[in-house]
Amino acid sequence: MTLPNRLARKTLALTLIMAVAPAWAASPVLVIHGGAGVMRSGMTSEDEAAARAALEQALLAGHARLTEGKPALDAVTAAITVLEDAPMFNAGKGAVFTHDGKNELDSAIMDGTTRRAGAVAGVRRVKNPILLARAVMEKSKHVMMVGEGAEAFARENEITLVDPSYFRTEKRWQQLQRALKEEAAREAHTDIETAKYFGTVGAVALDKQGRLAAGTSTGGMTNKRYGRVGDAPIIGAGTYADAQCAVSGTGWGEFYIRAVAAHDICARVKYAGEGIRQAAEGVINQDIPKAGGDGGAIALAADGSFALPFNTEGMYRGWIGADGVPHVAIYAEDTPEDRGTE
Ligand code: ASP
Repeated sequence: MTLPNRLARKTLALTLIMAVAPAWAASPVLVIHGGAGVMRSGMTSEDEAAARAALEQALLAGHARLTEGKPALDAVTAAITVLEDAPMFNAGKGAVFTHDGKNELDSAIMDGTTRRAGAVAGVRRVKNPILLARAVMEKSKHVMMVGEGAEAFARENEITLVDPSYFRTEKRWQQLQRALKEEAAREAHTDIETAKYFGTVGAVALDKQGRLAAGTSTGGMTNKRYGRVGDAPIIGAGTYADAQCAVSGTGWGEFYIRAVAAHDICARVKYAGEGIRQAAEGVINQDIPKAGGDGGAIALAADGSFALPFNTEGMYRGWIGADGVPHVAIYAEDTPEDRGTE
């Protein structure tokens, strides 16, 4: 082979490698939560086992997408769909009830690389709101759609609609009855502690090409008033992703909205140079409680480090890395390594 020929071949090979290989091959990670509203008193060992099994199933479904080389968005969507279908979490089937006995669902998804986002709020018939949020992102010019308009868009895009009774579970119905009684007692000035019944689900993922994504889906908070929208579908409050950081929150939504919690975690990483764990702890375990709120979050950085802070009795949570082994935890005292790495 003549020299110029060899050079030409080398250049071609190099160009091909650059075209096919990502800038740097990241080690994929998926982190999920099933809500920070875990209350030990209300849990049987069967409940715990069922929650653990569903979390593992969600991790494996998302991880399969990542190992196939699919985008982080696909892993987030796959994991959240599993959690929406599992009746023990407050998203999709098993969502909490509003004050007037309805289920109104909120969801959002965001792609960190492109900062495209899609969100839906107050939908009553969409089986998997995360799929509708993704369709809003990919198939419309908008970021957020609500109520009947969002459902019309779902119909146009062949997203599965169900009868509103699909979402009902007896456990959530009884939670509403208790919340109504507690509210009546409070109005009568009886001193009574109010349970807030969180349970949102969420996922953040890093794919082989180093792309981050975040998604969240929820029924909101038990006994919420008609039309109330929480933090989950509000980009920057309960859901956010950019090129360096992806976050999904769970907790008392009003406080997350006022703190712009998910974005604030990523802003600390971006502008203050904080590590993901420090940033997430600062917002979730300092700022939110200081303001009077509570809850948790999952946060993932582009280098694969992540954090799962919360300030309640427990948060359904899990993560899966390159080895494909799902790690799942529920209560605060469960396995310290599940608090994250940095
Ligand atoms: N953050 C949700 C909301 O306020 C509730 C939850 O996390 O369970 O709508």
